[in-house]
Amino acid sequence: MRRTLAISVGDKWHRCTVLDVIRGRNTECLVQCECGVYKIVHARHLIDGRVKSCGCWKDELVRERRYRHGHSVGRALGIRETPEYRAWCHAKERCGNPNVRNYHDYGGRGIRMCAEWQASFDAFIEHVGLKPSRQHSLDRIDNDGDYEPGNVRWATRSEQVRNRRSAQRVAMDRAA
Ligand SMILES: [Zn+2]
Repeated sequence: MRRTLAISVGDKWHRCTVLDVIRGRNTECLVQCECGVYKIVHARHLIDGRVKSCGCWKDELVRERRYRHGHSVGRALGIRETPEYRAWCHAKERCGNPNVRNYHDYGGRGIRMCAEWQASFDAFIEHVGLKPSRQHSLDRIDNDGDYEPGNVRWATRSEQVRNRRSAQRVAMDRAA
């Protein structure tokens, strides 16, 4: 027998108020975020805390993090310690610095980072958001595409392998 998820209309989970529960194999909820935005989310994601808001909470975390560091002497240091900043730096280097080890797989074969992101870590983080977990790393959706809005996301290693495989399949189909 399937366990009924302990979630009902009117519940409040973090910033989300449950307006409707759509029970099924993957029970979903229509929620309204404190900021006013409506969203349909998986009930289990509310329960396990993976979803805390419509997404605005992540933006706030970024702002808060920036704020906290922005007002200390160690501003640059503080931001540089974040995994997001390191990921941005490394991506930038892979594309633009011929002296790094894996340049040939990136800059060496024409992969670039868009000018806006090169110039601004903030612009980058506003687009990709915070790294969801330690298992996630930056992934380009189209492996031959650039680091630019629409082509970059955080993904786990297995998601990336899957992505590569399906890209290879597409390439093979095209060649066939
Ligand atoms: Zn919100």
